[in-house]
Amino acid sequence: MPKKVVLLGSTGSIGCSACKVAEDLPEEIEIIALAAHGSIDKLAEQAHATRVKHVALYDTSKADALRSMLASDVTLHLGPQGLIDVATLTQADCVLVAIVGTAGLQPALAAIHAGKNIAVASKEILVMAGEVVTNEARRAGVTLLPVDSEHNAIFQCLDGHQGGADEISRLILTASGGPFRNTAAADLEQVTLAQALKHPTWEMGRKITIDSATLFNKGLEMIEAKWLFDIGMDKIDVVVHPQSIVHSMVEFIDGSVLAQMSHTDMCFPIQYALTWPQRKKGGLRPIDFPSLARLEFLAPRSGDFPALGLARAAGTTGGTLPAVFNAANEIAVDAFIHGTISFPGIWKTVEYTMSAHHTQSASELGTVLEADAWARDFARKLCS
Ligand code: MG
Repeated sequence: MPKKVVLLGSTGSIGCSACKVAEDLPEEIEIIALAAHGSIDKLAEQAHATRVKHVALYDTSKADALRSMLASDVTLHLGPQGLIDVATLTQADCVLVAIVGTAGLQPALAAIHAGKNIAVASKEILVMAGEVVTNEARRAGVTLLPVDSEHNAIFQCLDGHQGGADEISRLILTASGGPFRNTAAADLEQVTLAQALKHPTWEMGRKITIDSATLFNKGLEMIEAKWLFDIGMDKIDVVVHPQSIVHSMVEFIDGSVLAQMSHTDMCFPIQYALTWPQRKKGGLRPIDFPSLARLEFLAPRSGDFPALGLARAAGTTGGTLPAVFNAANEIAVDAFIHGTISFPGIWKTVEYTMSAHHTQSASELGTVLEADAWARDFARKLCS
């Protein structure tokens, strides 16, 4: 029996890759529901290709247009509740949450409560509400399967590790360094949107591409790692690896390091998350080592790119501060995309919003959502 998978965020870059992985492994993976924000043409095309019987659309204003494009036996679920409906379908085994931003949080929690394993591609779920989500997953006895390439790499390195967390000395996240890895600090003020959208190794959506350029993406991943692997921020490090072949590493107390390597294609981590705990032969090609000219590793420029330090502070303080870090960054990236703040304005906005926040416990989702809303409001005023 193939594993039955619900795809939340099917029309985005991760969602499209997940469709490709499923298409290559029809015996192993069956997509049973699709959900998207508003790209109805793409969503209808995917619905036909996968022959799903359930489709969810967040933007209700496009419901009639989508309805007319779907087969008559497809049930259309609408709005935020629509996402929850498909995330909790009785027959689903696993829900892939690949919705950018915070809209994936409620459907993810609903799926956890319904006993589904969650393949997590949305960083925000763990950065904002890591405490709530990991506690709920433990209580429901479900597994959180990381799809982000770095965390998937660490998950692979730790799969089969019999010893406890005290045998791990460090998790080492690799970062490409982004397009401004060699840009002088003084020139960052003049960075344009077009330059920031040119990622050297990965093809991704806009928000995450800007986050890669500022290193906020790596900062979010540090906090994500803390929750996924239940480890202190002092044991999470970042190393710049421009070729993006080593996706992350685990250093053990005996000094040995395990690394996971593959080409820069998100289909690798998606496939592992969806076929876990097994490995299957899909359509992915292995590395031809002699063709790799070299693999380099460098220290990150933490002084010129404050995102890593801000993330470490947010993750170490904990409580609502990581949610504030995430929310202020989302607003600042949006402001940069719309030309109202400069590139360094992104981290200045986040730093200022964090310093103005009174951190509270994050064990209740309501408090987290309030902190998120406060940070968005505060950051929006800073950027206007
Ligand atoms: Mg990543």
